Amino acid sequence: MLHVEKMRKNKWIRTVGLILLLTLICSGSVMAADVNGQEEIVDTSDHIYSYAEMMEDIQQLGNKYPDLIQVSSVGTSLDNRIIFQIVLGNPNAPKAIYVQSSIHAREWMNTWIMMKSLEMNLKNWNEMLPNGETYGQIFEDCCIYLLPMVNPDGVTISQYGFEGIQNEALRNYGLSLKGASNPKRWKANARGVDLNRQFSVGWNSNITELMPCSDTYNGEAPFTEPEAIAVKNALEQREFVAAITYHTMEGAIYWNLGQQGDLLVRSQILANHCQTISGYRLDPGPSDLKGLEYNYMIWEKGIPTVCIETGRKFSPLPYSEWADVWQENSMMMVAVAALY
Ligand SMILES: [Zn+2]
Repeated sequence: MLHVEKMRKNKWIRTVGLILLLTLICSGSVMAADVNGQEEIVDTSDHIYSYAEMMEDIQQLGNKYPDLIQVSSVGTSLDNRIIFQIVLGNPNAPKAIYVQSSIHAREWMNTWIMMKSLEMNLKNWNEMLPNGETYGQIFEDCCIYLLPMVNPDGVTISQYGFEGIQNEALRNYGLSLKGASNPKRWKANARGVDLNRQFSVGWNSNITELMPCSDTYNGEAPFTEPEAIAVKNALEQREFVAAITYHTMEGAIYWNLGQQGDLLVRSQILANHCQTISGYRLDPGPSDLKGLEYNYMIWEKGIPTVCIETGRKFSPLPYSEWADVWQENSMMMVAVAALY
């Protein structure tokens, strides 16, 4: 009798747990508690989410879900780190969305959010979404090309200081640059070029720094830096119906550079959708072109693009921001893919 009662109680706990899990996943509110005994790969406890940890997570996710993701390299950083690309879903899907994060070093919390979101999508592959499709069906029709950490050297500097740079000459050069005394706030790559000023559209039209430094120096020409070239190459792999580039901070979505016609309409639809998902305010964003990646994506590539600015505190965002940023963005990839 006692045994039967215990079994009933366990079954009840499992049922309640499952309902709770599905509710949490559907609302995207917090990461899933694991009721099925499945181990979580991406650790979301309070710590520094490093390049090395991301690399290990990519490998583990690839081992666990070999048919659902494809991992490749789109380039190598100055300090010899691979710039990873993960294709989520069917790589030959008729439609694809490009997503990137951490082109700015100190904004690395977005890498962590994207990696956890990637895992959530994989875990929920056969779960039904409110639109009647499973996660898997959505990514079968519209896959995601994700570059979770465009600027791995810069992220390493922001997290560990210049001791994290392996190449001695590069480390010493970086240490000589303006801003090196406060590495946490580093935005650029390891030789002081802001990768998000490296793109050809508007390059050199808005100069705020004349020398390599932690922030906003645009380099000697567009696409001199391997990390910016990696983004350029990644965008040339195929046509994309939409692009999302993650930054911090502001809780805002930039989307409008004055594009016209069909591109404007498609941009507006994407931006509205992202606003509904995240709750961030829509902002046309700065209309002056200054070599930013989304200037290039919209004007050169003709891709409807949103620049999503997460968080509401100075970067690097403190861990206290994690839960909010997760709630606002965990569903972004699947919900945007479902739009197409
Ligand atoms: Zn940024």
